[in-house]
Amino acid sequence: MKTSFLKFAAVAILVAACSVQVSADNYKGSKAYVCPESGKVFHGDKDCSVLRSCGASIVTTTAKLARQQGYTLCDACSQAIAAKAEAEAKEKAEAKAKKREEAKKKKEEKAKKKAEAKERKAEKKKAAKERKEKKREEAKKKREAKARKNAEKAKRKVEKAQRELERAQKEL
Ligand SMILES: [Zn+2]
Repeated sequence: MKTSFLKFAAVAILVAACSVQVSADNYKGSKAYVCPESGKVFHGDKDCSVLRSCGASIVTTTAKLARQQGYTLCDACSQAIAAKAEAEAKEKAEAKAKKREEAKKKKEEKAKKKAEAKERKAEKKKAAKERKEKKREEAKKKREAKARKNAEKAKRKVEKAQRELERAQKEL
C-alpha cells in the first residue's frame, strides 16, 4: 500500500517535471540557431550568451525543424523569453493600473467640477434671493414712510380744521 503510493507520487512528480520541461519551450519565433558542437540544443536568440561562446560556425534552421530533429530550446533562451514575457506582463499591468488611475482622477475632477458648479449656482440663487428680499424690504419701508407722511398730513389737516372751527365758534 505504502510502496504503491510512493510509486504513484514518483510518477506524479515525474509527470509534473516533464510538463515543466515542455512548457519551458515557449519560443514562438520561427528561426533557430544551433551550435553543432553543443549537443541537441537550439537557440531562439542569435545573441544568446551560450551561442556566442560556440567554437564552431552556427547553423541557422527553423524552430520547427529543430524540434522535429529532437533539439530542445536552450535554458538561457528559455529564461530570457520567460523574463521578457514577465516584463511585458508587468508593463501591461502597470499601464492598465495607470490608465485606471487616470480614469479615476478624471472622474474625480469631473465630480469636483460638477459640485463646484452646483455650489456656484446655489450661491447665485441665494444672492438673487437676498437682492429680492432687500428690494422688498426697501419698498415696504418706502410705503410705510409714505403712509406715515400721509397720516401726519391728514392729522395736520384735522387740527387746522379744528382750529378754524374753534375760531369760528369764538367769533359767533
Ligand atoms: Zn540560447
